Amino acid sequence: MNISLKEHSFKTFENPQGSSFHERMLMHQQFLNYLGKTEAMNYRLEIASACHSEVVLRGGNHIEQGNYISFVCNDYLGFTQHPKVKAHVIQQIDKYGVGSGASPLIGGYYSFHRELEEKLCRFFNRSTGSALAFTTGFTANSASLLALLKKEDIAIVDMAVHSSVYEGLMGTNTKRFMHNNLESLELALKLSKDKYRTKMVIIDGVYSQDGDIAPLSEIYALCKMYGALLMMDDAHGIGVFGRTGRGIAENHELLEKIDIISGTFSKSLANVGGFVIAQPEVIQYLQFQSRQYAFSAAATPAITGVVKCLELIDEEPQWRDQLWANIRYFKNGLTSLGFNIGNTESAIIPVKIGAPEQTCKVGSELLKMGVYTNPIMYPAVSMKDCRIRMSVLATHTKEQLDKTLNSFDMLKQKFNISLTHD
Ligand code: PMP
Repeated sequence: MNISLKEHSFKTFENPQGSSFHERMLMHQQFLNYLGKTEAMNYRLEIASACHSEVVLRGGNHIEQGNYISFVCNDYLGFTQHPKVKAHVIQQIDKYGVGSGASPLIGGYYSFHRELEEKLCRFFNRSTGSALAFTTGFTANSASLLALLKKEDIAIVDMAVHSSVYEGLMGTNTKRFMHNNLESLELALKLSKDKYRTKMVIIDGVYSQDGDIAPLSEIYALCKMYGALLMMDDAHGIGVFGRTGRGIAENHELLEKIDIISGTFSKSLANVGGFVIAQPEVIQYLQFQSRQYAFSAAATPAITGVVKCLELIDEEPQWRDQLWANIRYFKNGLTSLGFNIGNTESAIIPVKIGAPEQTCKVGSELLKMGVYTNPIMYPAVSMKDCRIRMSVLATHTKEQLDKTLNSFDMLKQKFNISLTHD
């Protein structure tokens, strides 16, 4: 098999149709060789400390062991280390132990699962029975959609939605509309008007690679006009947006009106898992008809930390204020240095570099300067739009942000990074 490096090496992620297991293994080896040549060493690094704004990397394979300022963790409010969250989880583990022992339908559903789901209902101002907790945010999306949408239905999706949404669309019809483009959405709605039993528009509240946000009110109005359901994944919005941290829907006063809100526990809620908020009939249907939910072990007692985090969002709004102060400071710093950070309006900061090789190099150089970031490459983004992606946290100190800005400043000269804005 003759595969040239560069573009083709990245295609290993694309699941090439018809290629065999052996070809895939070979392609992947070539991909790893390619990353090695570009010194792309930022992937799957071993962290030997807590998830925090500064981490200890274990080192090895070009990486020095030591402390690094970290922008790779999505613990926006810093709750993974909050003493009240830790104390609550330890207490619940004392009571329940460390495993759930079975899937929810056949013996793995405990009081702590019910308490979490009831807390989610109250948090999102919905009636009891409107929430379902999953073991990951990925399955919250993929499992629900697989169970809900079938071949007489259509999913109309923003082309930039998270891959967990695409994973859930295998059994239905799909039409993609241009990212955040209302005309493109309306056209898709018009074209599918009388053809399908159910039309569901699916968007993210905050887009995970660009950090920009959905024009929710307008999208909601279009859904009403064309009789479509609306599902929004607000993984990066919960805890960050809205007057009381309920996310993008709260900003638009639509918290109770969106048909399905999904999200993750792995960001502001400082845990592992995910959830779906919907009408109680939809939740009851998913409990029995979603195979990934029904035939997979329920979450462990550690998930009870989410209840405490939901309380802290109300009780300690200072973390959200601090997060926004940090976001503003860091964005201003990068734009005054002339970097292109696209249209981000959230805690996700993409520094657009362009070509994959240069993006890998910038990531590696940042590591050498003690700053740990994620270079994002094709196919997560297009070949020409590779970037360094960072998550700003409430717990980043001014000193850490300044040191990072200085590092970017030095790299700007070294790599002659194009400073043109979109
Ligand atoms: N949705 C979005 C928008 C995400 O960014 C992510 C994860 N980064 C997920 C869903 C999946 O969440 P989890 O990590 O809990 O599986």
